[in-house]
Amino acid sequence: MGQGPSTSALQQCIEGVANNRAGFAAFAGSPLYQIQWVKPYNLDVLVEPAAVVRPQTAQDISEIIKCANANNVKVQAKSGGHSYQNYGAGGSDGAVAIDMVNFQKFSMDTKTWHATIGAGHRLGEVDKKLHAQGGRAMAHGVCPGVGLGGHATIGGLGPMSRMWGSCLDHIVEVEVVTADGKIQRASATQNEDLFWALRGSASGFGVITEFVMRTHPEPANIVQYEYTIKLGKQADVAPLYSKWQALMADPKLDRRFGSMFIMFPLGAIITGTFYGSQEEFSKSGIPNALPQDGNGHLVLNDWLGALAHDAEKEALYLSGLAMPFISRSLAFKRQDLLGPEKIKDLFSWVDAQEKGTLLWFIIFDAAGGAIEDVAQNATAFAHRDKVMYYQSYGIGLPVTKTTKDFVAGFHDQVVQKAGAGTWGTYPGYVNKALVNQQKQYWDSNLPALEQIKVRWDPKDLFHNPGTVRPAKK
Ligand SMILES: Cc1cc2nc3c(=O)[nH]c(=O)nc-3n(C[C@H](O)[C@H](O)[C@H](O)COP(=O)(O)OP(=O)(O)OC[C@H]3O[C@@H](n4cnc5c(N)ncnc54)[C@H](O)[C@@H]3O)c2cc1C
Repeated sequence: MGQGPSTSALQQCIEGVANNRAGFAAFAGSPLYQIQWVKPYNLDVLVEPAAVVRPQTAQDISEIIKCANANNVKVQAKSGGHSYQNYGAGGSDGAVAIDMVNFQKFSMDTKTWHATIGAGHRLGEVDKKLHAQGGRAMAHGVCPGVGLGGHATIGGLGPMSRMWGSCLDHIVEVEVVTADGKIQRASATQNEDLFWALRGSASGFGVITEFVMRTHPEPANIVQYEYTIKLGKQADVAPLYSKWQALMADPKLDRRFGSMFIMFPLGAIITGTFYGSQEEFSKSGIPNALPQDGNGHLVLNDWLGALAHDAEKEALYLSGLAMPFISRSLAFKRQDLLGPEKIKDLFSWVDAQEKGTLLWFIIFDAAGGAIEDVAQNATAFAHRDKVMYYQSYGIGLPVTKTTKDFVAGFHDQVVQKAGAGTWGTYPGYVNKALVNQQKQYWDSNLPALEQIKVRWDPKDLFHNPGTVRPAKK
């Protein structure tokens, strides 16, 4: 696969589709190719696609897919370009990256409150348009630069997911271009198996051009909580984490509350967002379970203000800008959560390690709630039973071996301490070090996905290192 004798034939084919349209495509080796076209997010992962194409219509995508097919080259859509392993650029060399930047259609049906949204939108743009057209909202993650295309198709978890479910739970219908180049609709009543696979595993099944998504009225009042502790030693923070984890694991925890615990070099931060008034927050009982001393404070916000607040906080740790980093992640069922002694050991282990960077952090984020309401096999997303994730990041210029060992070591420590936990992780938090990645990402849904792949993409055209492969005959 990839570059070689077929590359020039691929180029000719794509140039034929471009038909002299400026800014349509660039090819490996062209000037400023990486900076202006590939635009990798993780600068520690070098990927050189054979071509980056910026189509304007679904028909363009159809023809580009036929070019890739004819030249035996892999394909990946690229929407917001925020994959931890640059999967939008193919994840390994020689693919065709289909950049969805021109797919910016947006409309709102004010009878159903279903929004039709082009796959090139980023989350921040979606929020502004939903707000402008009826004060509507949907669940998604905290970074405004993440693309709807890669987010709504892999999961899409954010502070409001305990209340409204994941971003993909909002999808009603999509337009998708499949491996045979056909432009199709997929929904609960059209191409149902494809629709099932696209909600959680789309990068291996097609290029979605637009989403039809259900929306909610924006919550009128939002309370945001933040508690910062700068103790310097993680072991001292461990009891605080234990208390926070117990709150997050409580099956009765009010669904209007989403929260993260962030470990960073100087200590830890707890952030929480409650979608309701301050009075409702007080009545929920949650404040009593959160640390209340002078290190904490509350902010009252409206919907857009709350989104901006979350994005600003997140940007302190994980920038929307490209950087070199290593990351790992893991998902926890209730029974996988560590007890207080093991937490203390884990946090002490962190204290004892050389990090090789001052830019490292580990985020624990709460899940459960409305995400758990949906059956494990209702969509390809397989983490309905998870109540928490951890994601770690070590950033460096470059990322040194010491940093890589720290991040990998933390992961091993968690796994060892949790014993016989049934592991896996959310594929949106790519963890390329996992053994048998596909099984860990899609768990019991994997066999069905492999069969659906045989039907819709038997030659494995839509491919990155983590995508579902066709079932073997
Ligand atoms: C700073 C940052 C913050 C994040 N925060 C969160 C968070 O709070 N919650 C959360 O759940 N996740 C979060 N993520 C993870 C993020 O959701 C995933 O990385 C997501 O896949 C990125 O989508 P993208 O379109 O920006 O990326 P891209 O690199 O463009 O695409 C990622 C993958 O999705 C596929 N894809 C993209 N568009 C389409 C399409 N139109 N059709 C089919 N497949 C497509 C690509 O082929 C590729 O395999 C975060 C990531 C970053 C970098």
